[in-house]
Amino acid sequence: MSQANFGRYMECSLDLAVDLANSHDPATGSNDRLSNVGELKSFLAEHKVSHRRPPTGSDLQQVWELAATFREVFEAADQEAAVKILNGLLAEANARPELTSHDGEPWHLHYTATGTPLAPRLAAEAAMALAVLIAEGEFERLQVCAAETCLDVFVDQSRNRSRRYCSPEICGNRASVAAFRAREKKKAL
Ligand SMILES: [Zn+2]
Ligand SMILES: [Zn+2]
Repeated sequence: MSQANFGRYMECSLDLAVDLANSHDPATGSNDRLSNVGELKSFLAEHKVSHRRPPTGSDLQQVWELAATFREVFEAADQEAAVKILNGLLAEANARPELTSHDGEPWHLHYTATGTPLAPRLAAEAAMALAVLIAEGEFERLQVCAAETCLDVFVDQSRNRSRRYCSPEICGNRASVAAFRAREKKKAL
């Protein structure tokens, strides 16, 4: 399937926003995919977020709050509601872009000053990605999976914005199998 291309840098920050939001389970209110400091550590490594201090329990708690807030952006009823949350996140994190080349990495952007604690650092980066998406007129790409058993959020990157499931392979397949069974059952009656 053809895909919209947002560029590698943007993709990374969008992934961060999506994975952050999905670490919060709205059904139970728990954070089962980011339940302890060790998992937060791997999460940061996976998303190539370098941070000077290893994460602490209080970082984790702040990240939990952040996760719930990011989910609200994806669930927002309209653009205005999403914008309000994102502007709040950016203001609260004191976001300000800065080019940096720490640890021998090529020049890249951070959205908070060096030394900013972890949660605002993540908030600014993920909020920027979603803010740019909205500024590009792509608010509709922020989606919640249509599968009944899945509440994951995702960024629809299909060219015609037609994706309904977080994972076409898993949730999409599961839904079509369920629909097929329902049709067969009807026929049998
Ligand atoms: Zn960096
Ligand atoms: Zn799904």
